[in-house]
Amino acid sequence: KNLIEIKNLNLQYGSDNRSSILALQDINLNLKEGEFLCVLGPSGCGKSSLLKVIAGYLKPSSGSCLMQGEMIKKPDWHRGVVFQSPTLYPWLTVKENVSFGPKMRNLAKNKIEEISSYFLDEVKLSGFGDRHTFELSGGMKQRVALARVLANYPQVILMDEPFGALDALTRDNMQGLIREIWQENDTTIFFITHDVDEALSLATRIIVMSKRPGEIVKEFKVNFTSQIL
Ligand code: ADP
Ligand code: ADP
Repeated sequence: KNLIEIKNLNLQYGSDNRSSILALQDINLNLKEGEFLCVLGPSGCGKSSLLKVIAGYLKPSSGSCLMQGEMIKKPDWHRGVVFQSPTLYPWLTVKENVSFGPKMRNLAKNKIEEISSYFLDEVKLSGFGDRHTFELSGGMKQRVALARVLANYPQVILMDEPFGALDALTRDNMQGLIREIWQENDTTIFFITHDVDEALSLATRIIVMSKRPGEIVKEFKVNFTSQIL
């Protein structure tokens, strides 16, 4: 079943013809419920732009981007976004960061506590709830960002090179963790990377984009049995 349907999508930055940039050209893509889609492609090919359209930050110049049949018009918590540099609230503790979404949705106090504890545990940060985020390492911050997104029970998680700034060992751990979370929470993931190995070890399907203007030039399913798990 399709969660997100993108049809004949073009995205242009700037409106006057001389300085405008066509970032995405004729993108046709369906994101299926439960899949782990990796998007590969060279720097500047439009991966982030595509993510921002799906997130609702950018409007397509033409074509359409639907989620469950409805036009995506603005960001909302059904689509959680994780960027390369985690954007956490520095004045809040780790647990308060994770509780932020449930609080905004006016859930009961004990429910908020239950959800934030659960997802802190899920990202293996149970003992760190009372810390401030500036005390944490890069990998830990990224785990807080992930827990904060998960606490909203998004239908899809959009990730833009989330492990790109981490050292190799931390990145390996994070890859294992995101696979686990994807399996346990029955969620759908749209994951940008320029690391072929990362895509091969994470994805159920990979799309490859070409240089600007970004077009989807290749698509393939990943055979799980060929993966080293
Ligand atoms: P990627 O994520 O694959 O590196 P981006 O989506 O960031 O690619 O960028 C695609 C193209 O669009 C690039 O040429 C980039 O310079 C251009 N671009 C991205 N954001 C903007 C913007 N806000 N204004 C103008 N051009 C932009
Ligand atoms: P990424 O590849 O993750 O998008 P970039 O360094 O390419 O990182 O871009 C960082 C930010 O700057 C992005 O949010 C993008 O929208 C914006 N940006 C990129 N290229 C341009 C551009 N030519 N003009 C204006 N903004 C841009």
